[in-house]
Amino acid sequence: MVDSSRIGSLDSKHFGFIESILMKQGVVAPIVTPDLVDDESRNFISPRDLSAKYEINAWKTRFQISVDVQHCFVLSANANAFAAYTPAVPNTYYIAIFLGALQSNVIFPKLIAHPAVRRLLGLPESLGEIDHPDEVVVLSTMVTSAFLWLVNHELAHIKNGHLHLSNRISHGMFSAEAMQLTNLQDNNLTQHTLEMDADSFASGRMVSWIIGYSAQHPHHPVLNNNMGAFRLFILSLYAIMRTFDRADWSVDNLLAYSHPPALIRCSSLATWGGAFLQQKPGIGIDLQSWLAEAAECIFAAEEALTGSRILQNHGDLRGFFFDGSERAPWNIYSDRMLSRWSKLRPELLPHLLGGVLAPAQASPL
Ligand SMILES: [Zn+2]
Repeated sequence: MVDSSRIGSLDSKHFGFIESILMKQGVVAPIVTPDLVDDESRNFISPRDLSAKYEINAWKTRFQISVDVQHCFVLSANANAFAAYTPAVPNTYYIAIFLGALQSNVIFPKLIAHPAVRRLLGLPESLGEIDHPDEVVVLSTMVTSAFLWLVNHELAHIKNGHLHLSNRISHGMFSAEAMQLTNLQDNNLTQHTLEMDADSFASGRMVSWIIGYSAQHPHHPVLNNNMGAFRLFILSLYAIMRTFDRADWSVDNLLAYSHPPALIRCSSLATWGGAFLQQKPGIGIDLQSWLAEAAECIFAAEEALTGSRILQNHGDLRGFFFDGSERAPWNIYSDRMLSRWSKLRPELLPHLLGGVLAPAQASPL
């Protein structure tokens, strides 16, 4: 049972709904009030709460959205986040962030302590403890990037009407990770397509955030240029997505789960980011160096995470992109998603809360 003293700003109606989702998913962890400071795991929730509030308000202003978005945190060691909606409470949406996703004391320090990542970021050889001010900034940037990305990913599920579509397939909720559905290949193709739509939205928001962050740190050895800031972002995003991966991913069972694996999500985002950068030559990063850098970040993060035994190796997905044939599995997969997007878009449009949906003839990636 959840400690009722921790209900905080969620009233009992809201609280009960979130609790019922957690119970359905078999998650035994308390929902916590945003001002709780959890000393043991060193997760300071208050700044996260302010950041979440800021992002939600900025999103509402930007798209002129008037619905209520409640948010809360779940005190769980697992990484996750979800957006939810119930017809019982109209015009109200929910975002729950699992604090496991924000554990700055687990994944990210190990990531930046690894030689492959340090070389990539141009940091000197590790001396053990992360106490140098520059490294503290690196660490907090990675955790904050991952956190804000999760919030914006969930906001995209809300804004683009995904939750109304998903009511009939996933009990009115969308998670950012491995609350996987049963083996329903066709539903999972829909979910993969919507995940890619949410990923694209979140990353678009983060591009401008990161450029701003880089400008605020003109003397920092990593963040003093846009590419350095992007490197940190890709590393942190890959690391957080990678914690969502199932160990038994393979090209053959891609649609056995409701979410695409980290490699596919990050590769899609790198492709999308490249297209974005081509439209914004002022940022000063050309397409070829961007793609090469993004791949290097993904490989370095993978090496660090599996090399430090934080995560298990999963099936080699390189063959997914380059199997030597004209129709690599990736082409077949992305064509199926594109075709699914054409079908979903008209169903989503009546539920769009603001902004626009990607055109049907364009990839939602
Ligand atoms: Zn999602």
